[in-house]
Amino acid sequence: MTRIRQQNVTAAQWSSNGGAIGAIDLTLPENDAFGANVFSIVAQRERLPGDVFEKLQSALESGEAIDADTADAVASAMKDWALEKGATHFTHVFQPLTGSTAEKHDSFFEPAGEGKALAGFSGKELIQGEPDASSFPTGGVRATFEARGYTAWDPTSPAFVLENPNGTLLCIPTAFASWTGEALDAKIPLLRSMDALSGAAIKALALLGDTESKRVFTTVGPEQEYFLIDEQYFFERPDLISTGRTLFGAKPPKGQELDDHYFGTIPERVLAFMMDSELEMRKLGIPVKTRHNEVAPGQYEIAPMFENSNVGSDHQQLLMRTLENTARRYGLVCLLHEKPFAGINGSGKHNNWSMGTDTGSNLLEPGDTPADNVHFLFFCAAVIQAVNKHQGLLRASAADIGQDHRLGANEAPPAIISIFLGSELEKVFDAIASGEGDPHTPASFLDLGATVLPPLPKHGGDRNRTSPFAFTGNKFEFRALGSSMSLAFPNTVLNTIVAEAIDDLAGKLEAKTSGGMDVAEAVIEVVKDSYSANKRICFGGDNYSEEWHAEAEQRGLKNLRTTPDALLEVLADDSIAAFESYSVLSKRELESRFEVWIEQYALRANIEAETTFSIAKTMILPAALRHLALINEAGMAAMATEVRELVDNLVGALNQLEAANADPDLEGLDWAKFARDEQLTKSLAVREAADKLEKVVADDFWPLPKYEEMLFIK
Ligand code: ADP
Ligand code: MG
Repeated sequence: MTRIRQQNVTAAQWSSNGGAIGAIDLTLPENDAFGANVFSIVAQRERLPGDVFEKLQSALESGEAIDADTADAVASAMKDWALEKGATHFTHVFQPLTGSTAEKHDSFFEPAGEGKALAGFSGKELIQGEPDASSFPTGGVRATFEARGYTAWDPTSPAFVLENPNGTLLCIPTAFASWTGEALDAKIPLLRSMDALSGAAIKALALLGDTESKRVFTTVGPEQEYFLIDEQYFFERPDLISTGRTLFGAKPPKGQELDDHYFGTIPERVLAFMMDSELEMRKLGIPVKTRHNEVAPGQYEIAPMFENSNVGSDHQQLLMRTLENTARRYGLVCLLHEKPFAGINGSGKHNNWSMGTDTGSNLLEPGDTPADNVHFLFFCAAVIQAVNKHQGLLRASAADIGQDHRLGANEAPPAIISIFLGSELEKVFDAIASGEGDPHTPASFLDLGATVLPPLPKHGGDRNRTSPFAFTGNKFEFRALGSSMSLAFPNTVLNTIVAEAIDDLAGKLEAKTSGGMDVAEAVIEVVKDSYSANKRICFGGDNYSEEWHAEAEQRGLKNLRTTPDALLEVLADDSIAAFESYSVLSKRELESRFEVWIEQYALRANIEAETTFSIAKTMILPAALRHLALINEAGMAAMATEVRELVDNLVGALNQLEAANADPDLEGLDWAKFARDEQLTKSLAVREAADKLEKVVADDFWPLPKYEEMLFIK
């Protein structure tokens, strides 16, 4: 099907869309300023009575609950602010276990007689909501007869107004829990894990001589990849509509092999979209830093600046939504699926992670002074220990049906978790572990009694794009996340497992220093033992290579290739122990998560398999038969035989898929494995037969937009 001429229509549409493009005004009128749509600390200071403002800030700092009077005063100021911004409704936004964002809108206005309406919004409505949430999956935590859950205001993530052409909406970030207090969302465990890490790090810092820091924050800076395609193609592809990825599509003559897209000039329509979505994000207080073309044609990346994990995670949800919404104004659709196109690089999300104190120091920043470096080595060793011990859990935190096409496909890190330290830092750790250095290692490292440690390499130096978990100068970059994923769980895992490792190392440190050993000396000994025991997780070579897969197996590292295998790690003994001992997630809460996620996998696999069947049977097969009739009409016997064979293959594969798609009457993990091994495998066979037909069937019979159209028309 040739649709190229239609492109002009959408291009004309967007270029005449003066409203959106005209809105890009670099002089920043007040309403477009950074954070203009956020009930930020600035707005709070301006609008709250002085004592209320102070009370709110001190409650936020100490993490204590906010009393009813303060809540009423905040609600009233927030409402006035939102009404001035044109809001008619408010909503508690939360992240249920499906990983999406949920909201239910309530009007501010209540009838007040004589045809009038009053705007009401109390502290109680701000603090707590009761969405009728009986349809959110809870993995058995909440039986349907007690279907109520409640949302609770998270004052640490600022409220904001969301603009719509027909009004605005006050959005209040909330947590979602059952009445029995169990977490039914992604935010609660993330907040708990931030507390856990802070507690552990503050204790360790005290041992290391820092008694000033009161709180340690974990930070996250995501880098988000996505595709843009013309919306017309999207609507002509039932697979994109139902599953987010193309279930069919032959390899185009030109793919990404020329590498001519990466960091290339950004097409005008795409740039207009980027500028507009960045304006939206700026108003929402999301600090966007970088944008560029990615490796695959039609693929782009956006990277906001890092923030604390909770706000960063909420902002990431908002960023994905803004990209999707803004694209539509330009006749584009933003695809956040991990693998929208077979044979073309998929999309991931890099999760830059670090820990910083309330006094402003980054614990993963090698410092200028020997004392700073002692801190750095201690916390860095804790991360290495945590990642080695919980490699399976970390892998599970990045599991998703879309990810099964990426991890291990030589475009993204493999399913094997390992750490890249950079050669300089690895040398330092190796020298500490062995007590022997090469000529490049500063001699004083080898002298454990020395209190004068040399400066460490400030910047990681070399980079390794193939590593799933890389040290990049002052943070670790967890690169295995999928593009559509919420940041909440991967960061919950990181915070919890690192808290556990910090506590473990701090305990060992304390044992040594209380025996009278010098702190720096004790740290070096602790680091030495920990690194020696965990260094198998460190790997500086090519993660894509066959040799690494073999070596990783020898090292005893896990290689969990698919989501059902990876998710089991959530319920491993070590995972449960870590989550429970920091009260981040109870065993029951973990089981409920596992149940929901495994079911999501099976449901989505089933949708893919049924969509594959339906497209092949009702769109592709008829096109192939039409083509066959045409050939027969022309009396081309040899060609007819050839096409006939391809059609027979398709029909054969379809029959097998139909059998696999019959309700298997399985549940949970068994169902997920069945969907993976039967339904998805048979779907792939159908695709292979169909893609061969795409290469021979007359273009004007072919019912689906082709890869070259979707990828190259901008
Ligand atoms: P690089 O030179 O490694 O690309 P950048 O400073 O440009 O480093 O950061 C790359 C990404 O890392 C950005 O998305 C940024 O937000 C994030 N980042 C930087 N510092 C931190 C930090 N301390 N914690 C979390 N993320 C960070
Ligand atoms: Mg990156």
